[in-house]
Amino acid sequence: MQIAIDGPAGAGKTSVAREVARRMNLKCLDTGAMYRAITYKALKEKIDVNDGKKLGELVRKCNMEIEYHEDKGTSIILDGEDVTEKIRSSEVNKHVSLVAKTPEVRKELVLLQKKVAEKSGGIVMEGRDIGTKVLPGADYKIFLSAGIKERANRRWLERNLKESGVLFDEVLEEIAMRDRIDQEREESPLRAAPEAYIIDTTSYSLEEVIEIVLNYILDGQKTCRES
Ligand code: C5P
Repeated sequence: MQIAIDGPAGAGKTSVAREVARRMNLKCLDTGAMYRAITYKALKEKIDVNDGKKLGELVRKCNMEIEYHEDKGTSIILDGEDVTEKIRSSEVNKHVSLVAKTPEVRKELVLLQKKVAEKSGGIVMEGRDIGTKVLPGADYKIFLSAGIKERANRRWLERNLKESGVLFDEVLEEIAMRDRIDQEREESPLRAAPEAYIIDTTSYSLEEVIEIVLNYILDGQKTCRES
């Protein structure tokens, strides 16, 4: 069983994917964490995030271990360093979409994501190009969206729990910039697969979205069994 969940930042993908995986007893992978990890390493090694060749060399030489924990989600160990918390910094937020638009980086990470799926025995994978590129044959494809102000507000509330003085307008601007780069890049731009089930989560709670997604999957399974 493979379930692809795509959508822009703040649409609810990570929380929904984790809960759907838990209830269906599947593994789960947050692919954004992988792009974040490479961005963290590039910034640490002072590599220009616009230099595709250097980023390609970096991604090919580093060793990325991915662990999944039911309670805290995807952890990334990069060259022996647990970067799980560090990849959520505002510096990484600002640069990750530039790194992610680099074809050399995408090529390596997509290969790794396909391998994780093969070995998983059943997975919920979330990102931007899972239904279109990573798992084109997924059993279920879901695309979560929401208005930009709502998505920025969700991220602003989350960030305020961890640090003080985060400005809503800054979060809004950062998300708008990431949306634009993710949608406009040449390699696997952010978009729903034609057959994806699109859910606008703007006016739903997280629990409601989880219910909608689970019902969609369980209905599909019922239909398959009946036909
Ligand atoms: O999901 P998250 O917001 O953590 O992803 C961070 C960034 O990684 C996205 O803004 C996007 O640029 C990139 N990404 C991607 N393809 C994926 C997952 C994430 O390009 N499958």
